[in-house]
Amino acid sequence: MTSYWFTEAELPARLPLPGDARVDTLVIGAGLVGLSTAQALAAAGHDVAVIEARRVGAVTSGATTAKISALQGTRAQTIAKRHDVAVLSRYLAANLAGLDHLLDFCAGHDIAAQRVPAITYAQNESERGAVRAEYEATRAGGLPTELVDDCEVPFPTAGAVRLREQAQVDPVAVLAALAADVEARGAPVHESTRARRLRRRHGRVEVETEHGTVSASTVVVATGIPVFDRGLFFARLTPQRSYLAAFDVPGPIPAEMYLSAGRPTRSLRRVPTDTGEVLFVGGSGHTVGRTRSAAAHVNDLLDWTERWFPGARLLDRWSAQDYHPVGELPWAGPLLPGTDDVLVATGFAKWGMAAGAAAATVLADRVLGRRSPEWAEVFTVARPAPGTLVAGAQANLSVARQMTTGWLSLAGHGAAAGDPPEGAGRVERRGAHPTAVCTVDGETTAVSAVCPHLRGILAWNDAEKTWDCPLHGSRFAPDGAVLEGPATTPLPRR
Ligand SMILES: Cc1cc2nc3c(=O)[nH]c(=O)nc-3n(C[C@H](O)[C@H](O)[C@H](O)COP(=O)(O)OP(=O)(O)OC[C@H]3O[C@@H](n4cnc5c(N)ncnc54)[C@H](O)[C@@H]3O)c2cc1C
Repeated sequence: MTSYWFTEAELPARLPLPGDARVDTLVIGAGLVGLSTAQALAAAGHDVAVIEARRVGAVTSGATTAKISALQGTRAQTIAKRHDVAVLSRYLAANLAGLDHLLDFCAGHDIAAQRVPAITYAQNESERGAVRAEYEATRAGGLPTELVDDCEVPFPTAGAVRLREQAQVDPVAVLAALAADVEARGAPVHESTRARRLRRRHGRVEVETEHGTVSASTVVVATGIPVFDRGLFFARLTPQRSYLAAFDVPGPIPAEMYLSAGRPTRSLRRVPTDTGEVLFVGGSGHTVGRTRSAAAHVNDLLDWTERWFPGARLLDRWSAQDYHPVGELPWAGPLLPGTDDVLVATGFAKWGMAAGAAAATVLADRVLGRRSPEWAEVFTVARPAPGTLVAGAQANLSVARQMTTGWLSLAGHGAAAGDPPEGAGRVERRGAHPTAVCTVDGETTAVSAVCPHLRGILAWNDAEKTWDCPLHGSRFAPDGAVLEGPATTPLPRR
C-alpha cells in the first residue's frame, strides 16, 4: 500500500543510471538519510551522485509519521539505562541539531512545518511510572520537558510528559525538495537502480548495479538496513514493522503529537491539507514476518480509532518498517572500523527524522574532512554497553529459532491442490524446493520461498500481499521483486 503522503505528491520520475560512472562520493538510497547526505555534499561543491533502487522516498521515509522530535516515546530512559546520561545527552543534542537542520531546510525551500509539542502519554495507571521515568531521564539529559496531568484527547490517559516546540512535516515534500536541490547543484539522482555488489579495486570502491558500475572514492550506504554488510549490522538490528492509517474525522483532532508510553503503541498526529485536517493513527507493530496475520494488526488500529473517534472515515492505510538496534543507538560511520571509504547510517528505531538528518550531517562532515560537533560521537558508540550483549544474543537466538522453525515447518508440506484463494499465500515444498505461492488480483504466482539474504523461509503478509522474511526483514512482491530490506536480488520464479 502506498502511503497517504503520496496521494497528492507530484514527484518527477528519474532516469536509471545510464551506464558505468565515476564520482567522488556515491550515495546509495534516496530516503531522508541518503538525500540529506547528498544535499550537504552537493551544497559544499562536492562531486556526488545518488542511486535509488525504487523511487525517491519509496520505502520508510515516504511512509513515516514524520514527527520531528527529541521526545521519543520512552527512548530516553532506555538509552540512559543501557548507556549513561552523558551518552543520552549527546543523543538528545544530536536530535535537536537534526530538528534545527530540517526546519532550516524547510524554511529555505518553502515547505510547511508545524511547530507543535510532542507528548508521551500513559494509557493507564500501569504506564504512569514510565511517563515519570521519561520525564526524569529527559530532564537529566537536558530537555525542558514537563509533566502534564490531563491531555486534550478523547481516549483515556493517566498523565503525560510533554516537550514543546517540536515539529511535524510532510516527509514527501521534504524528500522532493531534497532531491530537487541535489539535482539543481549538478548532482544526479538515479532511480530504478539497485546496487547489487560492492568491491574494492585499485584503491577505489566499485558498486555494481543492474545498469552499470559506479567507481567512487567513498560510498555512503543509506539503505535503511545496510545492503552491504561486512560489518554484520543485520545481527544487531531487529526489523520492526508498524501500521498507519489516515482518517477524516467529524470532531476535533488532537493538536499535539501523541505517543503512548506502553503497548499497544498508539501514535497520533494531525496533518493539515488544502481541505481541512486529517488524523493519522499509527502503531500495532511487530517484528517483520513474525506475526500470524498482519491484517489483524491493521484491524486492531482501525477498531481503536473507530472507538475513540466515532465516525472517522478511513482515507488510506499503509505500513512501514525501521530497524531497532540492540544497543539502542543509531550508527552513522564506517562500515568497518578503521576504514572511511564505505560509510553507513542505520538503526533509527522509528526515530530517524531528526536523528537521520543529524546522521547525514555527520556523514557529510566525514566525507568532507570537516570537524563534527561533540554530539556526533553518539553515532559511533562501539563499546558494548551492559545489556547490549544479552540483547544481541537474544535477538540472534530468535533469528536462529525462526530459521529452524521455517525449514522444519516445510517437512510435511508437499504441494497442495489448487491455487490459494484471492489475497492468500502459502509456502509448500515442490520437490526439494520451498515454494511461495500466492494469488493477488486474480494472478497466481510461484516463487522461491527462500530469502536470498540468509536463507530464511518467507512468510505471507496478508495486509500488504507480500512475502516477508522473519530473519532480517527483506520483503518481496508476489512476483519476487525486492521491495526492501537487506536482500539485493529477487526471488527466482518457480
Ligand atoms: C511506521 C513508522 C513511523 C515512523 N514515524 C517516525 C516519526 O514520526 N518520526 C521519526 O523521527 N521517525 C519515524 N520513523 C522512522 C523514520 O521514518 C526512519 O528512521 C527514516 O525514514 C529512515 O530513513 P532512511 O533514509 O534511513 O531509510 P529509507 O527511507 O528506507 O531509505 C532507504 C532507501 O534505500 C533504498 N535502497 C535499499 N536497498 C537499495 C539498493 N540495494 N540499492 C539502491 N537503493 C537501495 C530504498 O529503496 C530506500 O528508498 C518511522 C518509521 C516507521 C516504520
